[in-house]
Amino acid sequence: MTPASEGRWALIVHGGAKAIEPGEEEANRRGVLQALAAGRAVLEGGGAAVDAVEAAIRVMEDLPVFNAGRGSALNEAGGVEMCAGLMDGRDLSVGAVGAIRNVRHPIAVAKRLLGEKEILLVGEGATLFAKENGAEMVAGEALVTEARKAALEAMHDTVGAVAMDRGGNLAAGTSTGGLAGAKVGRIGDSPLPGNGLYADNHVGGVSFSGDGETIARLALAARVMAGMAEQGPEAAIRDAVERLPGTGGAGADGGAIAIDRTGRIGWAHNSPAFAVAYANEGGGEPRACLGKDEEARD
Ligand code: ASP
Repeated sequence: MTPASEGRWALIVHGGAKAIEPGEEEANRRGVLQALAAGRAVLEGGGAAVDAVEAAIRVMEDLPVFNAGRGSALNEAGGVEMCAGLMDGRDLSVGAVGAIRNVRHPIAVAKRLLGEKEILLVGEGATLFAKENGAEMVAGEALVTEARKAALEAMHDTVGAVAMDRGGNLAAGTSTGGLAGAKVGRIGDSPLPGNGLYADNHVGGVSFSGDGETIARLALAARVMAGMAEQGPEAAIRDAVERLPGTGGAGADGGAIAIDRTGRIGWAHNSPAFAVAYANEGGGEPRACLGKDEEARD
């Protein structure tokens, strides 16, 4: 966990709690660093945490190595339905979309919803909202990659970001193609506040990846928020993640990233790997790791 740094920005991004094949390691590392750079540019320019989170996630939605936007997992009908969520810790506003189709950047649609009364739109309604609000629409096939067609296993590789801006505002976001082979219309934890994400300026922000049904049943983001003030972000995530395997059976693994209200960054996972990149103002070079064991080695 990095030390607290008041009045300075902090940012952490992840590319999913999953196994990473040796041939994919560099693409994952480069991808999270590229996302970090996009979010960092916003924060260094004095921008808001929500804008930094959106900028970081947009980058990963375009990279086929991650299960979000282009490169999304295919559902049981062979189609792409995506979920994304964004929460602003300033006023607890939430924008989220579930089972949305044909958009290049689900996180941008979620962000557009932040100013509305509704916090979550799904399916046709979400796609309609995207169209009406000028989101970039794409053909479904544009989101499908050959690698995903060949992937029969459920991979947990939602992307996410948590940021604190110089004003001390926190934001958290998620974006995912969901689980491969899932039922049409399935929504996991990712767009649900208190499950896949949460942000509150008085506490911190958190973003999850992993077995969505289990994360949602355990309300893991809410648990991290409850533990963060006392334990700090990393221990709070560790405690939450430890609850995963016993509940959902095999494959119920996951990971999360968080920043507390003092700017401390934490992350933990029980998945084989978890690609993460983080930086904070005055904290030196950004770090990228494919898992906690790698962070400990360096
Ligand atoms: N949590 C996501 C979901 O269940 C999956 C993931 O993390 O990749 O939709």
